[in-house]
Amino acid sequence: MTASIIDGKAVAKAVRGEVAAAAEAFTTETGVVPHLAAVVVGDDPASAKYVAMKRRDCAESNLGSSLYELPAETTQDELLEHIARLNGDETVHGILVQLPLPGQIDEQAVLDAIDPLKDVDCFHPENVGRLSQGRPRFLPCTPHGVQRLLVESGTTIEGAHVVVLGRSEIVGKPMGLILVQKSEAANATVTICHSRTRDLAEITKTADVLVSAIGRAGFVTADMVKPGAVVIDVGTNFVDGKLVGDVDYEAVREVASAITPVPGGVGPMTRAMLLKNTLTAARLQR
Ligand code: NAP
Repeated sequence: MTASIIDGKAVAKAVRGEVAAAAEAFTTETGVVPHLAAVVVGDDPASAKYVAMKRRDCAESNLGSSLYELPAETTQDELLEHIARLNGDETVHGILVQLPLPGQIDEQAVLDAIDPLKDVDCFHPENVGRLSQGRPRFLPCTPHGVQRLLVESGTTIEGAHVVVLGRSEIVGKPMGLILVQKSEAANATVTICHSRTRDLAEITKTADVLVSAIGRAGFVTADMVKPGAVVIDVGTNFVDGKLVGDVDYEAVREVASAITPVPGGVGPMTRAMLLKNTLTAARLQR
């Protein structure tokens, strides 16, 4: 079997189109342009690049955006003051603090300070709590993007055994929470694995859907995958300057029924779902 390729670029383009049309209609109706404020602290080139791409996406999807670049030596209090100003700014609907932050700043304290209605990354405990109770306000961008890829690829999620590799707050845990919900495009039986999981390959071999979010190149090998499984590779790793996922792509392609490539799989979806959340935030604040 050679797996079909789940084209994240194409699905992300469709999502951007949906957001562009819905944002235009929202602006016509309300006179308000949904607006994302991005905050970058320090001069990490990767952060600058990611934020530039997110702002370009906003422009293409009829959303406004602004960029606040703060020096690397910004103190926690200064950043918190900045967040408070953005929380109080009625023209700003979504606030994105690009991670990682410099070492002198407590990331969690900063994320906790974002107004939950403007928390378009869905990292605030109130929004995570709502998600875990099955009444989300926003869905976190990367796992939401994965769910959409599963839907678009025609994957049966209901009743499927989904194995998630990784238990981070950003990807692994919310991935499990989203797919285990008693709701559409969910109702899966979810197993979340991590570095202390025993007999990992025995578990992954039972997965109908395997989502890898570990951050280790080539970690998922063909012998860990059940024939016919759908494999979603969230990992982003650089090997000899080249972007690769967690999955041994060429070998796993011969076993799986569908697979996401890296690049061109989950990455573009993460950015697209941020646009969706910015529009949702603007709607919630009307
Ligand atoms: P993270 O916070 O470093 O979490 C990695 C997880 O993998 C942890 O739960 C860790 O377990 C687990 N793990 C590490 N080694 C393992 C092993 N040998 N066996 C089993 N589990 C293992 O990373 P993250 O933020 O979730 O990101 C994961 C990957 O996705 C990274 O490559 C990141 O760059 C990528 N990513 C991509 C996108 C995108 O849009 N494409 C978005 C976000 C993240 P412990 O908890 O036990 O340490």
